[in-house]
Amino acid sequence: MNDALRELYQEVILDHGKRPRNFRPLEQATHCAEGHNPLCGDCVTVHVRLEDGIVREATFEGSGCAISTASASLMTEAIQGKTVEEAMSLFEEFRAAVVEDREYADLGKLEVLLGVKEFPVRVKCATLAWHTLQAAIEGAGVASTE
Ligand code: ZN
Repeated sequence: MNDALRELYQEVILDHGKRPRNFRPLEQATHCAEGHNPLCGDCVTVHVRLEDGIVREATFEGSGCAISTASASLMTEAIQGKTVEEAMSLFEEFRAAVVEDREYADLGKLEVLLGVKEFPVRVKCATLAWHTLQAAIEGAGVASTE
C-alpha cells in the first residue's frame, strides 16, 4: 500500500469515526444484537430490518473507538440491500482479509480497514460490528469478541 492510499484510507476511517452513517435506533428493526469488545471497551448495538431475506435497513448505536465506529458505519452502508447470504459472505471475506490475511474478493469501501491487520488488538475493533450483525441475524442477541 503506498503512502497516498494509506492517507486516504486514514481519512475515510476518521470521517466515519467522527460522523458515523446510519447511527440511530431503528424502530422497525426485525433483528437486534449487542456486541462488546472488552479488550478496547467498544459497545455496539446493531439493528437490522430484514424483509424476504434482504437487508432493507441497517443501523447501529453505541460507543467505541474510531475503528469500531468507522467499521460499524461502513458495514451498515455495505450490507444495505444485500441478501443475508451476501452480507454474511462479505463478513467472511472481510474476516479472512483482516484476521487471516488471506486473499479476498472485492471488499469495496471496506478495504479502508485492512490496515488494522498490522495491529492485532485493533482487529477485534474492526470485526465487532460484523460479529454483532451475525448474532442479530441468528437471533443470538449478544456477541462478544472474546
Ligand atoms: Zn476499539
